[in-house]
Formats: sequence, C-alpha cells, structure tokens
Amino acid sequence: MLFKRLSAVLTLFFLFTNLHAQTQDIKTKVDKLIGEMTLDEKIGQMTQVTLGVVAKGGGGNEDGSLDPDALKHAVLDYKVGSILNTTAHALPVEKWRAVQTEIQDEAKKSRLKIPVIYGLDGMHGQTYTLNSTLFPQNIAMAATRNPSLVAEAAHITANELRSSGVRWEFAPVLDCGRQPLWSRFPETFGEDVYIGKTMGATAIQAYQADGLTNPTGVAACMKHYLAYSGARTGKDRSPSYIPEIELREYYLPQFREAVKAGAATIMINSGEINGVPVHASKYLLTDVLRTELGFQGLIVTDWEDIIRLHTRHLVANSPRQAVVLAINAGIDMSMVPGDYSFFDLLKEAVQKNEVPMSRIDDAVRRILTLKYRVGLFDNPNPEPASFANFGRPEYQQVALRAAQEAMTLLKNQNNILPLSKDKKVLIAGPSGSSIAPLNGCWSYTWQGNQEQWYPADSKTIGQTISEKTGGKAIVISAKGFDNPQNFDTVRLRSAAADADVIVLCLGENAYAESPGNIRDLALPENQMALARAAAATGKPVILVLTEGRPRLITSIEPSMQGILMAYWSGRKTAEAIADVLFGDYNPSGILPYSYPRYSGEIVLYDRKHTEDVREVFNSDMTWDGYNPLFPFGWGLSYTQFAYGPISLSAPTMKGTENITVNVTVTNTGSREGKHTVELYSHQQYASITPNMQRLRAFKKINLKPGETQTVSFTLSAADLAFVNANLKTVTEPGNFDLMIGSQKASFGYEP
Ligand code: BGC
Repeated sequence: MLFKRLSAVLTLFFLFTNLHAQTQDIKTKVDKLIGEMTLDEKIGQMTQVTLGVVAKGGGGNEDGSLDPDALKHAVLDYKVGSILNTTAHALPVEKWRAVQTEIQDEAKKSRLKIPVIYGLDGMHGQTYTLNSTLFPQNIAMAATRNPSLVAEAAHITANELRSSGVRWEFAPVLDCGRQPLWSRFPETFGEDVYIGKTMGATAIQAYQADGLTNPTGVAACMKHYLAYSGARTGKDRSPSYIPEIELREYYLPQFREAVKAGAATIMINSGEINGVPVHASKYLLTDVLRTELGFQGLIVTDWEDIIRLHTRHLVANSPRQAVVLAINAGIDMSMVPGDYSFFDLLKEAVQKNEVPMSRIDDAVRRILTLKYRVGLFDNPNPEPASFANFGRPEYQQVALRAAQEAMTLLKNQNNILPLSKDKKVLIAGPSGSSIAPLNGCWSYTWQGNQEQWYPADSKTIGQTISEKTGGKAIVISAKGFDNPQNFDTVRLRSAAADADVIVLCLGENAYAESPGNIRDLALPENQMALARAAAATGKPVILVLTEGRPRLITSIEPSMQGILMAYWSGRKTAEAIADVLFGDYNPSGILPYSYPRYSGEIVLYDRKHTEDVREVFNSDMTWDGYNPLFPFGWGLSYTQFAYGPISLSAPTMKGTENITVNVTVTNTGSREGKHTVELYSHQQYASITPNMQRLRAFKKINLKPGETQTVSFTLSAADLAFVNANLKTVTEPGNFDLMIGSQKASFGYEP
C-alpha cells in the first residue's frame, strides 16, 4: 500500500517536473523566435483566414483543391499564422491530409519556417471530414447525464480531427442555454450551470487528454466567451443586457472550470453585453479572463468580429479603430477571415503607436506557444500514427450508446410503449424519412441540411422501424423535411386506416446560427395540423420529437399517448429511437432544460421564489410560476425507481468540513434500467434571494430488477456558494434543504 502511494506520488512529481521543463523549453524557443521576427511576421501570425481565401474558386470550392498563387500570397506575402474552416462542405480525410501538407509545405518556404495552425469546428464530432462519427449534440449529451460518454465522444472527435491533419478544435460550446429561442440552444448543455461546468470541463480534458503533442489530442477552444447565449430577443448575435451578478452566477462558472481544466484556447462572443461588444471589452477579456480566471492561452475572435465593431456595433468610427479596440482589449488572433484588411490595419495602428508593441508580442507569444505545444514545429504535416484513428468501427458503438442514453421518454400513457414488434406502425411526419433533422447543425456542412454529404449507411426513422417490425411498417414520410407530402393530412388519414399505431415524427430540420432564428417558439402550424389529424384518426399516436430546442406542443400534448424526445442525436439517432420504441433499450435520458408550456412562461428550474409564486389578490397566492410542460430533469423509464430517506453524515456543516449525503435507490420494476440520481439544494434564507433549487451533483447508476444501491455525494461549503451583491462568490451561514427524487433533508451551515 505504502509502496503504491509512494510510486503514485513519484509519478506525479515526474510528470510535473517534465511539464515544467517542457514549458520552460517552449518559453525559451518562443522568446528566441520573437526576437527574430519582423513586425509583418508578427502581425501575420495574428491573422486567420478562411480556406476559401486560398482555395481554387474561393468559398464555393467543391473539392478542397488549393490555388497555389493564393496560398503563396497568404502564407509568404501576408505570413498568415492560421487558416480555418472548409469551403462548401466536408472533405474526404485523405483530401484534408493533402490540404494540410500543401499548406505546411508552403510555410516551410517562409523565412522563419513558422508552421500554420489550422482550426476546424467539431461541435458533435468532426464536422468537416466526410464519414466522421457524429455524436449527439451537447443538448442531448446533457440529457444522458453521463460525463463518461462526453469524454469518449470528445476523445474520438479529437482522433478524427488529428487524423485529418488538424490540431485545433473549435469546441466545446460552454454557453448556458437559458433562452430556448436561441438558434444555438442545441449546442449548449442546457439551462443548468453545474451540468455545463462538469460536462464542458470533461470534454476539454478529453480533447486534450493525451497531451497536445501526441497524435491523439487536439487543442480545445472554449466558446463563446461570454454570455453569447443570453441574447434578450433570442436572435443570434443580438444584444444581451445582463447584470454582472447574473453573468457571474450563470455564465462565467463554465469558463472558470474550463480554464482550470487546462483549455488551450478561447473564442469570443460575437454579441454585446450591456452595450459593450465583448470583442472590445478590456474588462471581460483582460481583467476577468486573464487576471481573475488566470487564462494563459490564446484568445481568438469569432467570424469577422473585429471589423463588425465598426460595421455592426458602431463603437469604432473606422475599421482601424475597430482593430485598435479589439487588440488593446486583449484579442490575440483575428478570424478575419475573408481578406487581409486586418493585417494592413493593425500594421498601420502599430506604426501610429495606437497599439503598443508589448501587446503584439504578448499575442504572438501565445500563438507560438500553442504551435509548439501541439507539436507543429517538430512536424507540421499529418502524422501517419494518427491515420488508423479515423472511422474505426468501434466509434459507431459509442455513437449508438450516446444516442440511446440521450433518448428522453416524456410521456407514456397507459404504458403504450414499448410497442410490440408485430404491430403495424405508420410512420408519418417531416422527420420520418430524412437524415438532416436527426443530426442538426454542424453536420458535414455548416447548416447540416444537405443530405448528400451524410454517410451512405445513415438511417431514417422509417428505415429503423421497418427493420424492427420485419418490413410491416407503412412509411408515408417523404424524403426532405419540407416536402409538401409530409404535411398532407388527407394522406395521413387514409394510411392510418390500416395501422395499429402512428409514430409521428415532428420537430426541426437542421439549422445553425442566424439561419436558425425563429419568430415563434411554437411548433409550426403545418406540423400542429398534422398532429391534430393523426389524433383524429382514433389510432394511438406516439410523438417523436427531433429538435434542437423545445418547440411548444402544449395544445397537441393531451392527444399524444407517448412522447419521445430524441433531440438531434447524431449518426445513430434513428437506431436509438427504434430501440426505445420497441423496448430493445430502456430509456434513461432526462431533460437538460425545462420544456415550456407557454411562450409567456419561460421560467427556469433554478427560479427564485418570487418567480414561483403568483399573487392573485392581496394575500391570495398560487404556486404555479414554475409550470413547464415537462420539468427540468424529467424522463421516464420502462421500470420504476424508489428512494429511501436521505441520510446525512452530520446535522451541521462546519467551516471547511464536508458533509456526506447518502440515499438508497431501488429498482422496483421488472426491467433492468439506468437512472440518474440528482442532488439539489435550496438555501432557506440568504442575503440575495435564493434559488428554489440548484443542481449540485448527479450520478447515473444501473440497477437490475429488485436491486438496491446506496448513492453517496460529498458536499462542501463551496458547492453551496452564490454570487452576492458585492459580486463575491460566498457561502452564507444558514439552513439548507437537500432534495433527491421524492426525498428531502435539511442541515445547517456554520462557517
Ligand atoms: C461561429 C463559431 C465558429 C466559427 C468558425 C462562427 O460563425 O460562431 O462557433 O467556430 O464560425 O466556423
């Protein structure tokens, strides 16, 4: 035992000394290189252009072939430090390797031979390489409440990216999904801070797991700092007005945790908070991110966001002033990305002493450090050791497990589900015969809505249900979400005559960013009409929702016997849906957001008491402020779980002592099943109105029928902290309630 401990301590010591030596070594090399660089070479490093700038035919380029003159112009004349993105769509893995080789070979011709760092988006798998493995979107990953799946998916994504010759991953999204209208809601881990914090940090550690120099890891990019998701109207890149107390309580902790997890880079929110565009906020970029959070890595802008300080936000009266504002605020690299204007403007600004050389050197130091850390100076070309790590068959199994665990059964009236395989099932609705609405954004194209780029073996819901039922299913869903046939209620009525049950596939077709803006959270009327027509047939209707955000379904919900939320769950969505519908998989996903009942009642689970209580008249009160259609954490199983009472290790938590919380969970049903035990806390009284509940911990367990397990959580005072009126994170003395399932217990905290 003693020997084991000693050897663990020694290993840690050696790792630490090694890392320290490596850091020192990189620092020496970077300092030397900076000493040799001209102003042009430095500013070039800070410039990032999109692939279209160097591709034959520009942004519309179809095959990834590069234009040698344009490449030379970028790398040798403008000395660009970074390139990003694809052109029209995903490219074959071999093509990516060729593209990377060509770019790095060009960089080798430059005076100082500084390699180019390439960045790609891989929000739920390696988006831009054909046949990569796509996993559930973050919102669905959050529903699994299983961080180990997040880690497995991120690790595979890192491998597929590195195997494509790319070492910089523009993920994970750490924005908190508190505005369901927002078109990037599916990229978030939902409305809860704790889930976002834990799953975000898990993803980062997995992307970077094997150390950045190994051909299995990539540099992560936490994004989009800060509060991009908090737009008041829900429109992408529109203003938010968020007091600092709220910023710190709900939006900052995910980034703080990600910095601790070692995230190598960060991308900035394209929007503005309280009238200050984040790209121009020295307070947020330097004072908070650098000084308070201690972030040492590289800060990159989002798309075109420097020039937009002049063209959209109107805080810079000229393009050059925009550059000056952003660089002085703390930006290191500009995702320009369509031209070289940034280079020219920054050079002018430095020459006019509007940006100090110290700021340029600081930015370049961080860029070069990253390039050293990911091993580009040793070997910038695609690494043969990574080639076998693309498209391995076992990745499909991880994608399937993740999709299965995401499936969230919202309603199961009279145990209509699981269906027996000899039932005659009618599959109707716009998502029944399409792939894009099962995957969503960032799937082989930016929008994810071009089905020709999906892997040939991708399956539709119609196909997987037909397979389960031995070909007996009647599929009237037509290919293409918006195909008018999909909304033909007459056709639905006549086809239903022959069916035992209708599986109605509704939701959202793929979208990303601003093209996904909506005016109304309600499910569009043509889908609601289809649901009413399905219900009117008198046949039982199972509603399968494939959607990125919760679209209102309140008026049709009562006439649906079953409702399965499938989110956008990646490559294996259709398989997972059929597995759950026919009982080959027992669902265990739970909602990572509150599914709203009314557009005028968007109340989140961690609401304040005053949001919960409605005053009717004088002292008359109703307790229906939090009345979503389905609450946060909701999800049914084909078995049942019962809780024993909560037991605490002590009635009082004192100072820095921990308290242990135990609870027993029993599977009282007849099927094996997974179940997430969630621990919520509520401080009874505090100096700032306390949240009604806050998720503090969760654990997913698997129980056989009749099996009981004790689940244990450890809580410290820090876990119960909140941001007070002085913007300090504090834990105040007082009484706390703990809630787990149906159980409740209380304890006191004394500092
Ligand atoms: C998105 C980022 C993305 C970047 C590069 C932007 O429009 O907001 O999330 O990383 O494009 O593709």
